[in-house]
Amino acid sequence: MSMNDLDKLHEECGVFGIHTGGDSHVNVVSATYYGLYALQHRGQESCGIAVNDDGLIHCYKDEGLVNDVFSESVLRKLGNGKIAVGHVRYGDAGTKGRENAQPLVANHVKGCLTVAHNGCLTNAAELREQLELSGAIFHTTSDVEVMMYEITRCRLSAPSIEEAVSGAMEIIEGAYSMVLMSPTKLIAARDPHGFRPLCIGKLGSAYIVTSESCALDSIGASFLRDVEPGEIVVIDDNGLRSITTHCGKCPSKICVFEYVYTARPDSVIDGASVHEARLQAGAFLARQHPVEADVVIGAPDSGLDAALGYSRESGIPYGIGFIKNKYIGRTFILPTQSDRENKVRIKLNAVASTVRGKRVVLVDDSIVRGTTCAHTIRILREAGATEVHMRVASSPYLYPCYYGTDIKSADSLIAHNHTIEEIREIIGVDSLGYLTLEGIMTFVPGCKRGFCTACFDGKYPTEVNKNEEKPRYLSPLSESKKN
Ligand code: SF4
Repeated sequence: MSMNDLDKLHEECGVFGIHTGGDSHVNVVSATYYGLYALQHRGQESCGIAVNDDGLIHCYKDEGLVNDVFSESVLRKLGNGKIAVGHVRYGDAGTKGRENAQPLVANHVKGCLTVAHNGCLTNAAELREQLELSGAIFHTTSDVEVMMYEITRCRLSAPSIEEAVSGAMEIIEGAYSMVLMSPTKLIAARDPHGFRPLCIGKLGSAYIVTSESCALDSIGASFLRDVEPGEIVVIDDNGLRSITTHCGKCPSKICVFEYVYTARPDSVIDGASVHEARLQAGAFLARQHPVEADVVIGAPDSGLDAALGYSRESGIPYGIGFIKNKYIGRTFILPTQSDRENKVRIKLNAVASTVRGKRVVLVDDSIVRGTTCAHTIRILREAGATEVHMRVASSPYLYPCYYGTDIKSADSLIAHNHTIEEIREIIGVDSLGYLTLEGIMTFVPGCKRGFCTACFDGKYPTEVNKNEEKPRYLSPLSESKKN
């Protein structure tokens, strides 16, 4: 999370699943708890853990951070079992609320199913309407319930749950990395483009599937490999097997923002270190937008690595320019307008000894809405910076995302409505430089995938409904039902 987390693109989820593989010493609940802790940056709105105790599912989920939701007594009540699935969530305007917390648990005629997912279906509204017209009743506004319905419908005729997941993947479109739990199996599936990350780890005989490798590190598990785009991974008492029917159907397109901002720098995604990618982005920036300055500072936290890269490439010393108050949670209450305006100052302070009397290069990962940028620049100037040159480790964010982040409308994007010179004036810096799209395409060394860069170039890898700017589930049908 960056200093201006109000002005950032927010990821909508992180997933974690574990199967003991027959090792009764593994505590799947505590492993999931620590895994979710490591994934907290992917979502702070709500979280949940479901555990399969001999076919009986215990699930606990609520709004709040992992540390707040899961007290020792809640974890104890969840007990232990052979399989567990966990989730952290960031909900956008249309999908906030306790009812949208995951995992989702359902009983169907052939058993029970637990699902947690990261991403966004591009045909969810259409599928939901079809399901509603055939009598389905929804309890949430989240895509995961649509997925759950499609999988359980397929399960009626499919010989196994993994075949049902495969059948549902013929119907659902868009971005999804999901983990599922049946009475005996842990299943992971990644959409054929591979928009969102998903990897596999091993801890003794236990297998883990999770959004980022940092969650494996947090429980001492070793990284095995990434789930391939389109792959379905099935884990049970017999070990791990893979279904590749949906692999290679389309070019892989990992979201480039995972490297720019979303993922933790200590994660390795699709063969590439996030930290290394950000260092490279900073080095590119230094070559593309050099400037005479005395110190390079990064916007905490996601601008720090790129700032180091800029400093190394340019030879301008690196300094600690900001200190972030780490003890402000999302539940922080802002009762008045002036309190809200002061939020940046409460969260962040400049280190005057680093910037006073200096020409400062400030490196940040992105400018999305531009809402709090000017405020942070003012903090730097008030601390004595004589010049502030902003360098952005991504291209101007021009188009909305339909694949699981919270930017649903181009109107909210500062670069969509203003030229770079206008943005420079609005945020109050002496110069402003963005990474070019060409730079973005090459800054992730070692990545074995192609990238989705649609929010920079408007080239969406799938069909999307560009007119859909209202909440996704207020269909004409739903509106008529209000009367
Ligand atoms: S549109 Fe942008 S944020 Fe969305 S998946 Fe593509 S690169 Fe990522």
